[in-house]
Amino acid sequence: MAHRNTGTAPKTARAKKAAKEPAARPAGPDMDSLGFQAMDSNVPVRVARGKDFGIRTYFDMFQKMEDTFKFCVECKKLPDALPDPKSLRRCKRCQNVYYCGTACQRANWPLHKKFCKKLKLVALDRLVEWLVFTGDIPFPTETWTKPVQDVKGWEDWFAMQGQLEEKLAAILGGRYMTLLWANAGKPRPEDGELCESIKRLVTDFHSRPVTIGLGMRLFGIEPLARPLTVHVVGASHVETLNTRATDYDELTRMFPGHQGMEVVMVGVDVVDGPIMRPPLAALGPRGRVYLSSYKGLYHDFWESQVETQQAARPDLVVGFHPGFHACPDLMEGWLPTLLLLRDYRLPTLFTVYSEQELKASLQILLELETHITGYGANPFASLRPEQVYSSPNKAPVYCSSHYIACLGPLGPDAPHVQELEDDGED
Ligand SMILES: [Zn+2]
Ligand SMILES: [Zn+2]
Repeated sequence: MAHRNTGTAPKTARAKKAAKEPAARPAGPDMDSLGFQAMDSNVPVRVARGKDFGIRTYFDMFQKMEDTFKFCVECKKLPDALPDPKSLRRCKRCQNVYYCGTACQRANWPLHKKFCKKLKLVALDRLVEWLVFTGDIPFPTETWTKPVQDVKGWEDWFAMQGQLEEKLAAILGGRYMTLLWANAGKPRPEDGELCESIKRLVTDFHSRPVTIGLGMRLFGIEPLARPLTVHVVGASHVETLNTRATDYDELTRMFPGHQGMEVVMVGVDVVDGPIMRPPLAALGPRGRVYLSSYKGLYHDFWESQVETQQAARPDLVVGFHPGFHACPDLMEGWLPTLLLLRDYRLPTLFTVYSEQELKASLQILLELETHITGYGANPFASLRPEQVYSSPNKAPVYCSSHYIACLGPLGPDAPHVQELEDDGED
């Protein structure tokens, strides 16, 4: 399944993003990146934000979204393969996985019980994510009151958010939260559980800009000293669909008084939308984050835009889940870009979904003789668990859970792969 931000492969829906195996059904319903169906193909999803038109009924929308997950997790039967499609039963605890009958449910329990609790959170977040779509999430955030190096993770970040309780209460009491549970076909969880879900989705929303900020800190790039250009390499469908021009503004709150930042999304799967505007030739507007995009491969972008000075050279390049370790095809698409990043000595930050991917990716970068300057767990990983779509009974993954920082080619006294494996954190 093509779910990686390669320069070549097409992207799939958010719900399937973490999948590493063929989907249970060959073609799911047409979902947008948020996992919500565009109710009318003539109405852009963006137009439907915060408005009701374009959506037939909310109940339909949530049902269709849930349909994607309706298959027996034990024998993989789809509802159509059952004598009575309605006989598909859902695990009462997690309300996430389905069974064709009690026999399959019993057979699956010894495995499922290890993941049932986490899968409950996955199913909840999948619904509450609708509030990102409606604009309720994220809540308005505050300018960081602490220096970036003193904010060690999301706990510290939430501690800087003034009137957090009030902001969460406003979302809980909002019109869309009420609509959601009136139509979700599942009982409304307690407010405490909903608050935790909202917080996980807030971290999911801000993880990318704050991880870019982390990259700046890792490389000693000083946003207060000069305007900066950041390239997001292999920007995907998921990263660019519905992206508003303000979605990376957390960087401004992270570095108040910065000299201006431009974030250019570059990838073959960049989606047309508000940020589909050409990169700036001059440097970004002071104190603001300017988002732009280029649809194409990074090395082509470099040749046609950067070398001709139509786009600024980057101070930092970030690749979210490039996935070049996943298969030779993806690697082929990435190879010219990885060599370019290395040979032009561009400070580069990659993120991955898991520790396993971290090791595989480090291995490839070392084989390419890339100098790795640091790697480890990302303190600003998304806290939202995502299941492997077709095989839910696996440990969930988290967006940008780990990072790798690299700069230029390997020097003569560079470490070997073996040494890196012995030393997990940077
Ligand atoms: Zn079954
Ligand atoms: Zn369960």
